[in-house]
Amino acid sequence: MSNVHESTHPLVAHKITLMRNIATKPKKFRELIREVAALLTYEATTDLLVSPREVMTPLTDTIGSELQEKIGLVPILRSGLGMVEGVWGLMPNAEVWHIGLYRDEDTLQPVEYYNKLPIAPTVAVCLILDPMLATGGSAIATVDLLKRWGVERIKFVGILAAPEGITALQQAHPDIPIHIATIDQHLNDIGYIVPGLGDAGDRQFGTG
Ligand code: URA
Repeated sequence: MSNVHESTHPLVAHKITLMRNIATKPKKFRELIREVAALLTYEATTDLLVSPREVMTPLTDTIGSELQEKIGLVPILRSGLGMVEGVWGLMPNAEVWHIGLYRDEDTLQPVEYYNKLPIAPTVAVCLILDPMLATGGSAIATVDLLKRWGVERIKFVGILAAPEGITALQQAHPDIPIHIATIDQHLNDIGYIVPGLGDAGDRQFGTG
């Protein structure tokens, strides 16, 4: 699973345990999702290109670095929303493009209901943000869409994954790196990740 990066960071493991806890309230859950998203993005962006940039310190001028590529954050609605703030804090010049998908009850296939992408791509690198890689359907549909849009480099950043979702995304798009905090045991028969953390949208927004 060469393109799959599962975090080994103790801070991430600690925060995931707090997120799993049924007693964790939405306010705390939102804080944790922001923090874990930022930590995972730190790990996922070690290959971003930089250009040299002159900078004047209080002592002298020197050559530093500046991010070279335009970055797009692509949260999958609605549970990806909570990840945006944590990642945007690290890269405030990123563009945020929301993608809305729901799962058709009959076909179980993702159906797009919100997409305001302009015709030509405006970014070189996209980070897809979705906390739960369950069946992989939404992630695959979003990568399809971004590739059609013409984005050169795409990465998936999620929090928990089921092995089934990892396999599906890898089979459909072997070129896309998957950055995840933890790969859990399995998907249950109603599509929940086990042991998981429940419904990531409900846990953030206090619904359900
Ligand atoms: N989406 C969620 O929010 N939770 C799961 O366990 C699976 C998909």
